[in-house]
Amino acid sequence: MPNSLPSQDIRQRDSAIRIGVDMGGSDLKFGATNLAGDQVLVDELVKRSSLTQGGPQKTIAQTLDGIAEVMQKTNTQWANIADIAVTVPCPCSADGVIIEATNIGTAETKELWKVPFGEHLAEAVKQASGESIPVFCCNDANAAGQDDDFARFGLSSDNRSSVFITTGTGLGGCVMADGHVVFGLGQAGELGHVKPTIPVRYAARFADDPHPRCGCGAVDCVEARASLKGLVRRIEWALSEAGADVIRQQLAADGRTLNDETLTRLRELATRGPEQAAYNVRTFADRDEDAFCRWLLEDWAIMIGALFASLAPVLHPNLFIIGGGMTEMSPAARDWFIEVVRRVYGEVNSQSCFASRTGNCEIVWSKSQDQGWRGAILMAIRSGR
Ligand SMILES: [Zn+2]
Repeated sequence: MPNSLPSQDIRQRDSAIRIGVDMGGSDLKFGATNLAGDQVLVDELVKRSSLTQGGPQKTIAQTLDGIAEVMQKTNTQWANIADIAVTVPCPCSADGVIIEATNIGTAETKELWKVPFGEHLAEAVKQASGESIPVFCCNDANAAGQDDDFARFGLSSDNRSSVFITTGTGLGGCVMADGHVVFGLGQAGELGHVKPTIPVRYAARFADDPHPRCGCGAVDCVEARASLKGLVRRIEWALSEAGADVIRQQLAADGRTLNDETLTRLRELATRGPEQAAYNVRTFADRDEDAFCRWLLEDWAIMIGALFASLAPVLHPNLFIIGGGMTEMSPAARDWFIEVVRRVYGEVNSQSCFASRTGNCEIVWSKSQDQGWRGAILMAIRSGR
């Protein structure tokens, strides 16, 4: 099971608290719960602007500082902290070793991050306090999945199975089987790197870009299309004359019309870099119901539908849950998006046992409250800590 340091007697104390840290590339957020994990003890989260670019040592010093403020707010001594749970925005092993400093560190500091961060933080805590406090690390997608699960089911450990994904810069996930989070050796749930089979009827849409390369180095990963990184790559083709013509024809075949004004606006934005155009696709697809932008985001929906379909026979879950940036769309746009996911899912899975319906492989939006620090605490609890 994850983590390295022994448990302590303080678990027996009623006053013991758990500290959660959400380490992001832009800020660090700190919160605390009671030992059971069902009461939040800090009204307003403690925040620090992230120093992760400066490497792990600076981040450890900052984490100790944030924890000190949580202790002050909760009137807690070091000896009453049961454990510290940290989410990191990158792959980390079951024992808290940062495997790849994806969203933290610079070209100079990335290598410094490939350390057993959990152990180093625990050592720093011991030096500062004299206490051996266990530190648990997990990646942020797992924490977001646990935050969603808590929003749905509280602390219940009923016998449920679910697949949670985050949509955003990349595509991460969290898998629960029979009421337990699946850790594997640490990276279980990295669903962005599954390579699902796409129904043949979508071959024409991907004909100019049949095997996109993922940031991991492989081709055909879900994340290579269903992510902002994938969209940035895709939009350069989509805004070219040839790409726009293909999309125009496909929309026409579907009874939809490409709005040339959108194309012009996106091309103008793209003169400042493809990212600038890609950042606006979701807004235009949502607010303006723009056909061109919806066609681009349908890439994501198709990949997600195919991903869920390929996982259904492996896990046969109660729920497939879509979280992250896509949840920020309006209800109408969410309805449009999830219908495409459900349609593709149904096109791949024809067996009735895997049909998506209430309680059985049901495809739903996340209820996560974006409380990664709390998700990390739940991960720690559910890992048996
Ligand atoms: Zn990949």
